[in-house]
Amino acid sequence: MKTMKDTLGRNINYLRISVTDRCNLRCMYCMPEEGICKKEHEDILSLEEIYEVVKTCSELGISKVRITGGEPLVRKGLIGLVQDISKLQGINELALTTNGVLLSKYAYELKAAGLDRVNISLDTMNEEKYSYITREGSLNNVMSGIAAAEAAGLQPIKLNTVLIGGFNDDEIESFANLTLDRRIDVRFIELMPIGQAGHWSKKHFISNTEILNRVKGLQPIQSDDPSSPAKYYMLPGAKGKVGLINPISHAFCGSCNRIRLTADGKFKPCLHTETEIDVKEVLRSGASLKEAIKETILQKPEQHNLNCQHNKPIARDMYRIGG
Ligand code: SAM
Ligand code: SF4
Repeated sequence: MKTMKDTLGRNINYLRISVTDRCNLRCMYCMPEEGICKKEHEDILSLEEIYEVVKTCSELGISKVRITGGEPLVRKGLIGLVQDISKLQGINELALTTNGVLLSKYAYELKAAGLDRVNISLDTMNEEKYSYITREGSLNNVMSGIAAAEAAGLQPIKLNTVLIGGFNDDEIESFANLTLDRRIDVRFIELMPIGQAGHWSKKHFISNTEILNRVKGLQPIQSDDPSSPAKYYMLPGAKGKVGLINPISHAFCGSCNRIRLTADGKFKPCLHTETEIDVKEVLRSGASLKEAIKETILQKPEQHNLNCQHNKPIARDMYRIGG
């Protein structure tokens, strides 16, 4: 099996693809309230182009793919793309990150198409708070989506919860307790100064160490995946795990194994860098895709500067990169 190493010897085997920058929610820390300017069809990579990128990446050493967005389930033809990627030799893990709103409709089809598992984003289990933070969402849809994903066997299900001081820190215990009876992993993510949250994240930032203070009895466990950004814990007798993802308080750049592809056809070597490699241009001009992939990997920075006092949030919003 081929492997790709960056200049620091990190093994790059994980591609995250944003298949659209559109979304059916408007989460305050991610999307502007007014929504986004619709892109022309030709400004977005076609599904065939995305497939070609994944296929070439798989030939070079990418073995894990995550489909994200915007909201990936609003992209037409997504099931077909999942089906095609899942058949690629060399791709042994195919996952999706979704807000869950449309999952009750698509969970079975996704599973049948070859999707291995889903991460579902959920920041609160309170209906009013949910419609406040997402600006228009209904919690019921996500809850049915989670149940559908469980029933379809898209497991282990991981819930991603962005911790926002003064908004959902009172729900830390309730989220952790979800792991007691269901095979669901709950992962708390530190709010990052990026995009819409660029200028208010500091005010609402809570370090994930707060979870260890609040949830008594969490025991550290060994992660099955050493490159996972999450540090895992379990409550005694629980079925699922509690994960802490700490990009701010404990940056995990040293074990970063990923590159990203945006819906408008740019490779990003790091979530927090302005550096982008124009894959769309490469694809449409017939230039070498393999060279563009290698260039992306060589451009991976040693680490992000989120903790630096003078760090300036990057210009791209999160929904345009794919978290
Ligand atoms: N729409 C899908 C969803 O919400 O799961 C996929 C795209 S969304 C951009 C991916 C993840 O990024 C979500 O879990 C979201 O909570 C997270 N995210 C967005 N902005 C963030 C920020 N400023 N800090 C931390 N996580 C953020
Ligand atoms: Fe949409 Fe996901 Fe961003 Fe929320 S976090 S606005 S669901 S892309």
